[in-house]
Amino acid sequence: VTSGQDAASGVATRGVGVVDDRLEDIALLLDLVRTGRAKTRTELSRRSGLSRKVLGQRLGDLLTHGLVTEGDLAPSTGGRAPRELAFRGDAGAVLVAQFGATGMGIGIADLTGTVLRRHHEPLDIAVGPDCALGRAEELFDRMLGERGDDAPPIWGVGLGVPGPVEFDSGTPIAPPIMPGWDGYPVRNRLAQRFGVPTWLDNDVNLMALGELRAGLARGQDNVVYMKVGTGIGAGLVSRGRLHRGANGTAGDVGHVAVRSDHPALCRCGKIDCLEAHAGGAALARDATTAAQEGTSAFLAARLAEHGPLHARDIADAAAAGDAVAISLLTRSGRLVGETLATLVNFFNPSTIIIGGRVTTTSDLVLAAVRQAVYRQSLPLATRDLHIAQSVNSAEIGLVGAAFMVVDELFDAPVLARWIGDGSPAGRPELSTAA
Ligand SMILES: [Zn+2]
Repeated sequence: VTSGQDAASGVATRGVGVVDDRLEDIALLLDLVRTGRAKTRTELSRRSGLSRKVLGQRLGDLLTHGLVTEGDLAPSTGGRAPRELAFRGDAGAVLVAQFGATGMGIGIADLTGTVLRRHHEPLDIAVGPDCALGRAEELFDRMLGERGDDAPPIWGVGLGVPGPVEFDSGTPIAPPIMPGWDGYPVRNRLAQRFGVPTWLDNDVNLMALGELRAGLARGQDNVVYMKVGTGIGAGLVSRGRLHRGANGTAGDVGHVAVRSDHPALCRCGKIDCLEAHAGGAALARDATTAAQEGTSAFLAARLAEHGPLHARDIADAAAAGDAVAISLLTRSGRLVGETLATLVNFFNPSTIIIGGRVTTTSDLVLAAVRQAVYRQSLPLATRDLHIAQSVNSAEIGLVGAAFMVVDELFDAPVLARWIGDGSPAGRPELSTAA
């Protein structure tokens, strides 16, 4: 609720949930300082449009609450050298977790999205929420116990899961590969467990957010992040912000239909989804068939030696010149690229980032993706299009989880509810709408 909406509806209200101009100013200044877009009072004044007097008052609030510090002298541009303002990234810390289909990562990050501690381990998401979240909580406890007594307080928890999430309630909704998670109150469980505000989003959205704020898409306004792992999904950034859509499912392109020469049943129950032909699980299935039918000696040997085949085995086979493996990876890349071409024509991104285990194990996939995108997109849409491979898609999801929490905490309506106390620690209700 904003005071503007109240004015429009003719209802004069002030109080709980109402954000006044002062808080809007403070949220804007905080945003400018922590994203590095303004470092001095002069820059802040120019970018915010606030008068020197009002700016001084608002900065005074931020300095008092310990969210910003006024530090060293900036290089002088003539006259008295200004002091540089800096965001207090160490004022608090955030617990972050990223669940994939077959593994999880957890960590502790500071308020600038820097992951300070991390731990990755295999975990089958199909074990269900009690087991998976219980393990994450156990690892968080251990990590918290390893910190010194002077460590900053925990301000929030940020989590990503490999399925559709209703962002406002913090619950997964009918996730195809997460049995037992449908409607499970993930956010409320973690918020109560650690006594701090908690937010939950789709894993690919968090990867897109991480790349946007601290990775390859930094400074870009229109971005598609495409993850090709066991499953497939995309995260969209529009006008510099994550685009979640009406229900939080924007970018869930793993289950769009693709053209194919043989039908494939998807884990979601439909036929010929992109994921059912081009995802990591589909590649493993087709590679196993090739090994069993004797069309690939390399894959047959791997299957006999190590058991179930993975993307890594197919990449190794392709690197050794195995025709079946090369064909499988190229086909996966082509199908992903054709779906991306549709997104490019529809959405006109400036940057596409490809991540996930399937693309990082072999350059063949990225090459096929590029070829399909450029062949099937409009010339104007690809004139300045940049396609890059994610450098570290496991870490970037944790970074994105941290930014999700910090962005929400510093959003004016939420900030208004805690800034007076100087900290959101011990306030789990902050992640629920006022
Ligand atoms: Zn499907």
